[in-house]
Amino acid sequence: MHCPFCGAVETKVIDSRLVAEGDQVRRRRECLSCKERFTTYEVAELLMPRVIKNDGIREPFDESKLRAGFLRALEKRPVSTEAIESAVAQIKHFLQATGEREIKSRVIGEQVMEALRGLDEVAYVRFASVYRRFKDLNEFRQEIERLESGERK
Ligand SMILES: [Zn+2]
Repeated sequence: MHCPFCGAVETKVIDSRLVAEGDQVRRRRECLSCKERFTTYEVAELLMPRVIKNDGIREPFDESKLRAGFLRALEKRPVSTEAIESAVAQIKHFLQATGEREIKSRVIGEQVMEALRGLDEVAYVRFASVYRRFKDLNEFRQEIERLESGERK
């Protein structure tokens, strides 16, 4: 990185160590031009990406909305809270691991659908029918048939 004092491009690391219980790397650097020393901290960026809605509007990721989506689809279904929490955690992990700063809401919807498919088929169909807005009964029937045959998309 550029020297914050003189803007020179070349700096060298003179010391590097783990801090904050190993969550950060502290580097002591020296500018090759002006010889000033400065410190940088490196942390893993695990921010949740912002969500791009279908109309292009961006909004912060909202974990409670994600959870509510699961709960709505799984209403009165024999699926434990623990299993739901685990699915929510997996999707958050997936979103963080993409490293993207923005992600389409559609991508999250697909993740929810995949998770529901593994948790409970009735909930999956409930969610998919609303989410995909099946155009007609035929399309819906096809989805059910695909489900029953165990075929994966
Ligand atoms: Zn400098």
